[in-house]
Amino acid sequence: MTKYKLALLDGDGIGPEIMAEAVKVLDLIAERNAVEFELSHGAFGANAYFDHGHSFPESTKKLCDESDAILKGPIGLNHEESKKIPVDMQPERGALLPLRRRYNTFANFRPVFLPKGLAHFSPLKPEIIGEGIDLIIIRELVGGLYFGDKETGINEAGLRYVKESLEYDEEQIRRIARVAFDTAMRRKKVLHNIHKSNVLKSSVLWNEVLEEVGQDYPEVEIIPILVDAAATYLCLNPGQFDVMVMENMFGDILSDQGGGILGSLGLMPSACIGPDKAYYEPSHGSAPDIAGQNIANPYSMIGSVAMMLEMSFDMATEAKNVWHAMQSVFARGYSTPDLSKPGSGVTMIDTSGFGDLVVEELRQQPIS
Ligand code: NAD
Repeated sequence: MTKYKLALLDGDGIGPEIMAEAVKVLDLIAERNAVEFELSHGAFGANAYFDHGHSFPESTKKLCDESDAILKGPIGLNHEESKKIPVDMQPERGALLPLRRRYNTFANFRPVFLPKGLAHFSPLKPEIIGEGIDLIIIRELVGGLYFGDKETGINEAGLRYVKESLEYDEEQIRRIARVAFDTAMRRKKVLHNIHKSNVLKSSVLWNEVLEEVGQDYPEVEIIPILVDAAATYLCLNPGQFDVMVMENMFGDILSDQGGGILGSLGLMPSACIGPDKAYYEPSHGSAPDIAGQNIANPYSMIGSVAMMLEMSFDMATEAKNVWHAMQSVFARGYSTPDLSKPGSGVTMIDTSGFGDLVVEELRQQPIS
């Protein structure tokens, strides 16, 4: 029996609700494979700050250090509530970025996927969606503006000012470029390089290094595209994209747009991979507007489990089964409230209802 230790960081808002559905799936995967998941919950985010005085407490760091992988729910509060926490302890600055830094999780995989049969969930017209949406955003996750030096103060004119720096060295760019080219080799061998080299010098270096790395991948076609244009084309013609690679902040923004073209951020799982440790999380936030109502879509959290099975535990078949089970629930005519309006010909289900149906579907699928 193979045993894996998992740190579960439920997070804030809808985090605990969608984590509960992920656990149902993990329990079934363990039941039908020779695998045991030892699950331990750790405090992380705004609630951790209120309960323990730190949004990434030492006890959670220890738990994560000792785990084989980390499954993280979304964190954060709404704009007003956030002000109750000191700026440097607010969940992203106090917990999320330190988590990424601690495990150097530089490679963020964000699939944007909607099969043709579920195109009715997307706000895009059927003629734009065509055969469905199937692309992956590869986002650099531990560099750039989010991790650069920060300075605030009063300048010589007596005005409050802020300065944040955007830094990359060539090795940081090279390693994410390799991840992107390797991903392109496993898919359609086309790589869209998203940049802003008409304005940012960081993008000039980014492009140079990407082209150098590309020499090791002669089969991959590199298509450079400015980030602003990419935002437009994601809406007008998403089918042109297969693998998209970009720096940290561009990836943060464009991947939310990815959720938008699918119909909901609730369809956006992700994997954050470092040299020695990986963590998995929905791409979205804690959705304070719907927290506590059992209406959040747990697809993003269960999809993150599927990515963990494949990328951390070499269980690609079960990962495929989980994806298939989730798609099948929707294909049977069910929908969570984020994706459809009542009366639109679908059967509405809540968070726990979706999790239960995924488990039911999964039970019917062969393990290999
Ligand atoms: P959000 O992603 O939480 O929500 C945006 C919209 O998407 C909301 O209408 C929400 O209801 C909806 N939504 C998101 N996930 C959903 C799901 N699974 N099912 C159904 N609907 C879903 O963004 P926000 O409201 O701007 O941010 C809320 C908090 O989350 C903030 O504190 C922010 O800083 C934080 N945040 C955290 C992460 C993270 O943990 N990695 C990422 C983004 C934002």
